[in-house]
Amino acid sequence: MALHWKIIIGMLLGVIWAVLSIYISGENIVDMNQFTKEWISPFGDIFLKLLMLVAVPLVLFSIITGISSLKDVNKLGKMGFKTVFLYLLTTMFSVLVGLVFVNFFEPGKELPLSNKDQQEVFQEIRLENRISYELWLIDKEGEFKDTLRYSNLPQNKKIVDDIYEKSENLSEFVQKKINEMKGHESTGPLARLIDMVPKNIFVSLQDPRLMLQVIFFSIFFGVCILFVPKDKSSQLVSFFESVNSVFLKMTEFIMRAAPFFVFALMAGVLAEMADSVSKLFEILKTLGFYSLIVFCGLFFMILFYPLLVSLFAKDIKYTHFWKNISKAQLMAFSTSSSAATLPVTMDCVENKVGVKSEIASFVLPIGATVNMDGTSLYQAMAVIFLAQFHMIDLSIVDQIVIVLTATLASIGSAAVPSAGLIMLMMVLSSIGLNPAWIAIILPMDRILDMCRTVVNVTGDASVATIIASTDKSFNEVNR
Ligand code: ASP
Repeated sequence: MALHWKIIIGMLLGVIWAVLSIYISGENIVDMNQFTKEWISPFGDIFLKLLMLVAVPLVLFSIITGISSLKDVNKLGKMGFKTVFLYLLTTMFSVLVGLVFVNFFEPGKELPLSNKDQQEVFQEIRLENRISYELWLIDKEGEFKDTLRYSNLPQNKKIVDDIYEKSENLSEFVQKKINEMKGHESTGPLARLIDMVPKNIFVSLQDPRLMLQVIFFSIFFGVCILFVPKDKSSQLVSFFESVNSVFLKMTEFIMRAAPFFVFALMAGVLAEMADSVSKLFEILKTLGFYSLIVFCGLFFMILFYPLLVSLFAKDIKYTHFWKNISKAQLMAFSTSSSAATLPVTMDCVENKVGVKSEIASFVLPIGATVNMDGTSLYQAMAVIFLAQFHMIDLSIVDQIVIVLTATLASIGSAAVPSAGLIMLMMVLSSIGLNPAWIAIILPMDRILDMCRTVVNVTGDASVATIIASTDKSFNEVNR
């Protein structure tokens, strides 16, 4: 049986296991959910660690070997330009797709297909949300800024107290997250540029969030190899090539065990999400429609990419492209990390789609780190949803700001689980909304993260294929 089928089966078994154990725990017979968290979920973590273990050195060695195999440096410049251009274009396009979906379906304004009572509860929550927003504004700006007068709202002290209490918890939570993100980052307009340059490559290799520094180093190192006389560099290059093949072999071995690991990941993720069936349903009631619309937006992108690819690379059929990268998509779905998926993405793009290694090894690691179309689409949708859910209408200028900040925030998101959610705080702040709102959508984030990571990885693979088609850089493969 092909590996991707085994992975799908592992995934399904994981879902079945999680649902059963949540159900059994709900009946209070045995706490199966706890068992899943303690005894099964750790294998998922081991899987993620193993993938990361190979991903970072693979970025280092594949970029160096890719660049050092180029015949001339000009080619690198052209490829670099195309890569940046296409990555930016696809990211902005996907933000626009997100905006169209969320403005059209308005998941934060109404719950379709729900009865009158549910609808009323939903509207009440929106009203409370609006009050909490006003209170937050008072706190933040020291004045009452908005048009909706607090005095016109139901004077229910309890609601206001609850909200205060809630927002205190939220600000603690947000502060913790901000502190987590800090540590590496500089401030000021050129902050990202400064962060890109490593001071010590060994430190950069230790943290997946510093992948951009590893890429910078690898490109610099690879280019310098091209300028060193052949008799001095050839041994080094063949050494790197050998190390690279060993890491690829490691990936292959890890992937053989993937079906089991994926089972553990799925079961663990679902067990974390809901300690009881009723809680899961509660979450789904408010966030279900929003999640569905995000899912539709992401699915649109998944359908769109192969179309774009077949437009450029005429001999790659629509369904073939899907089939060839499906293993990477499955890995992205189960790990929620473009970085952890990178070894598999490279394998699919090089060996199945047939993109030449010199292109794949340059375009894909950069893509895994900076090109996150699913994340940018998600961030745009989440911001508008949260505004709708707080009865706030955003102007067209706000939406334009969202296009820019969501693009930047997705570039800045690390290729690890939930990074996009944390960067969402930046997009919320950019239009004056409360960054603590990420807590509202947190319960559904992991599932949506899995889906957006599929789009992120598909976007990278598509751009690599398009660049290869403009250069006619394909190997003979049996697609
Ligand atoms: N998990 C995503 C990735 O690795 C990033 C995110 O949107 O959270 O591509």
